[in-house]
Amino acid sequence: MQFEELGLSPDLLRTVEEEGYEVPTPVQERAIPLVLQRRDVLAAAQTGTGKTAAFTLPILDILRPHANTSFSPARHPVRALVLTPTRELAMQVSESVKTYGRKVPLRAAVVYGGVPLDPQIKELAAGVEILVATPGRLLDLVGQRAANLAQVEILVLDEADRMLDMGFMPDIRRILDLLLSRKQTLLFSATFSDDIKRLAGSILNNPVTIEVSRHGTAAENVRQLVYPVDRDRKEELLRHLILKGDWHQVLVFTRTKLTASRLASWLDRNGVAATAIHSDRAQSDRTKALEGFKNGEIRVLVATDVAARGLDIEDLPHVVNFELPWNPEDYVHRVGRTGRAGATGDAVSLVCLDEADLLRGVQRLLQIAIPWEVADGFTPRRTEAQPLRTPRGSSGSAGGGRSRSCAGGRRG
Ligand code: AMP
Repeated sequence: MQFEELGLSPDLLRTVEEEGYEVPTPVQERAIPLVLQRRDVLAAAQTGTGKTAAFTLPILDILRPHANTSFSPARHPVRALVLTPTRELAMQVSESVKTYGRKVPLRAAVVYGGVPLDPQIKELAAGVEILVATPGRLLDLVGQRAANLAQVEILVLDEADRMLDMGFMPDIRRILDLLLSRKQTLLFSATFSDDIKRLAGSILNNPVTIEVSRHGTAAENVRQLVYPVDRDRKEELLRHLILKGDWHQVLVFTRTKLTASRLASWLDRNGVAATAIHSDRAQSDRTKALEGFKNGEIRVLVATDVAARGLDIEDLPHVVNFELPWNPEDYVHRVGRTGRAGATGDAVSLVCLDEADLLRGVQRLLQIAIPWEVADGFTPRRTEAQPLRTPRGSSGSAGGGRSRSCAGGRRG
């Protein structure tokens, strides 16, 4: 299918062409016509599927008749509200709104926590038609009478599953209470858990359900590999893989903020430029870290799952699971950072013995056996028959060695 067949206006088609998009992604193909028909949509689509354009492009066309050049804020009420779980995703969505909407004279703004309220209050006071927000900050702004949501016609819940995981449900309910009951609602979620289905059932009106996998599916264009390794040699192995493979732009996942910080400083001290990004760092630091990573000054970005949500880094070639996540679905999100938009990517996991169960959980979810390889000089001292066995003739001693516990406490 071609973009021309979706019902978008000519200037948006030109913008899409200028962005270099040749054909719509599956979620765009399904969602754009439905959103233009003003249907409620429940879409299972992960980051990397092109979901942001799938809702942004039709919203721009729907709101276009309201575009005006009046200086009166009253002529620019918030008409579309996009809620996202993290600041990074909010920034990324708002950049997309600005990119895709550059030929449409509608105003857009983004608000999120962790930065001063005043500039956001001023920006909202001038009037904006499209507002991208994280829930907590939006409620603060409503409380200050800086944001008025009474005229919102379109609500988008982006990465709704993550918003629920992060405990935003009460905030979302409060926001819903401020909106018109007759509005169009689009709910995007990487997964359709029971909680998501319940939320969808309570807020969507006769929705159309869309389910798409990532371009190709992760397995096709992402090479996944497991390196069995002793816990206390993971840092060394990571450095070895980066240097030996001449990897640049490596996104490394840890389970805790503490491990992220420690690993980044270890790499930095050992000759690999690295920085950590997690929710304890000031927003300005996170933005700076991301910029340094994007422009190649920083080779390795170490992130926790929460901080990584919404990071849009194009053509990211390498993702490393320094530790497997507690939740197998987070593995899918992590690996989804590479191989985006059809490019190929590598996702490697450094797995120590204590993580064998986590690896089994991932394999069960993906319904695949992830291939494994022992890196030269990194044969684990203690091994288990499956799936972390070592090759025949290696020095690994089954079960008899010292037990090496995996990093960190639970959840950071
Ligand atoms: P998203 O899933 O919205 O985070 O988008 C993932 C990436 O895909 C972004 O970098 C977009 O610029 C890119 N993208 C979106 N739509 C298309 C398309 N139709 N063709 C190629 N790339 C696209």
